[in-house]
Amino acid sequence: MKINRYFVFNNGRFDLISLKEIEKLDEQIWSARLSTGLLGLTSCLSGNRGPKSIGEIILSVGDEGLIKLIDLGFITCPACHPEKTDRFWEVTQRKVIKKYCLNTLEDFTNKSKLPFDARRVLWEEILPIIKILPGRIYLPKGLSNEEIIELNKRFIQIGFKLPPVGYYNPEVPGRFSKYQIPSL
Ligand SMILES: [Zn+2]
Repeated sequence: MKINRYFVFNNGRFDLISLKEIEKLDEQIWSARLSTGLLGLTSCLSGNRGPKSIGEIILSVGDEGLIKLIDLGFITCPACHPEKTDRFWEVTQRKVIKKYCLNTLEDFTNKSKLPFDARRVLWEEILPIIKILPGRIYLPKGLSNEEIIELNKRFIQIGFKLPPVGYYNPEVPGRFSKYQIPSL
């Protein structure tokens, strides 16, 4: 099923907006993928590879929207490199320095300094608005049971059941190795 509406952050709030309305906006649109915690361009092939529900992607508009996505914990997509757009660092640096104590764009986009980890996403703010979970959540490899339990508790506190969580693994079908979610 093709989705034609998305949650879009614009003018200080999230609204469910149709693609038609979004296309009318004469500003840069940013896309954030909940399952991976990555933000990128709406043209990103990696990001377009299969949003299946409204709970997979949120969008945002303009400079304010970009800062908001960083505030919500998203980091740059290594496929479409949103950081290469004009003024990216000019717009985001204050937020990045304050949030992560990383002082350069190189550090902010360096995945060994700020690794792939969707636990960084502020689920507490996003889920009560969109109310739908992504189909899976990507975490770093090698997390302990305690860390999975902690994430599970976080989701329960927000009022949601943790979806399948795991890590990227090119060796297995679906390229996703699941963590067992220990019972509480
Ligand atoms: Zn991308």
